[in-house]
Amino acid sequence: MTKELFLEDSYLKTMTATILEIYPEAPGKWKLVLSETVFYPKGGGQPSDQGILFTEDWKGKIYQVLSQEGKILHYVEAATPPPSPGEKIQGELDWERRYLNMRLHSAGHIIDFALHLLKYELTPLKADHGKKATIWYQGVLNVDFRESLESKANTLVSEDLRFSTQFVSHDVLAKKALYIQPNLPTNKPLRMLTLETVGSVADGGTQVCKTKEVGHIRLLPIEVKDGTTLIRYSIE
Ligand SMILES: [Zn+2]
Repeated sequence: MTKELFLEDSYLKTMTATILEIYPEAPGKWKLVLSETVFYPKGGGQPSDQGILFTEDWKGKIYQVLSQEGKILHYVEAATPPPSPGEKIQGELDWERRYLNMRLHSAGHIIDFALHLLKYELTPLKADHGKKATIWYQGVLNVDFRESLESKANTLVSEDLRFSTQFVSHDVLAKKALYIQPNLPTNKPLRMLTLETVGSVADGGTQVCKTKEVGHIRLLPIEVKDGTTLIRYSIE
């Protein structure tokens, strides 16, 4: 019911939307459903966006955005109750926070693409692109690959390759993607992320435009646990 503007353009920082629903959350706190949003809800390893919602005579702080039961809920803290459903409202992202999240998220994908280029056979399980950025893989390699992977990832950064996204059917994705995550819906278009000259994967998060925006990627010592490999990383 909410148009997800961040899926089309990760660089949109503001929007004007119509309030669709309001739920009380706690004293001074409400949950708002909007007709469209630039605010990314926590998910896919990427933290929630924050920012402000405002009208001419009202202002609220968005402290988290969650996707629950098909609705994108903007959790707002304000001195007075928000305007009513049907009214227009404006939103503005905390761009510094979002841009860091975008860079961390894209860095995780660059590492994953580098792993693929080096032909290391690990299967991605999940990822956390927050403060302690980590990618979990099924499988263990019998070589110390930290240095070669870090170097390959930073080569992709220095080549300043372009990320692009498009919506495709599950069939097209299955043909084009390097791998396909289990549990992807088969009955609706899926967003495919492509790194120029490298390959494509399914992805629903926000991404930088070109790899140089990420900056230098540093890999922490690789950890192995119960048949899984943990790759922790940071960006500078
Ligand atoms: Zn992703």
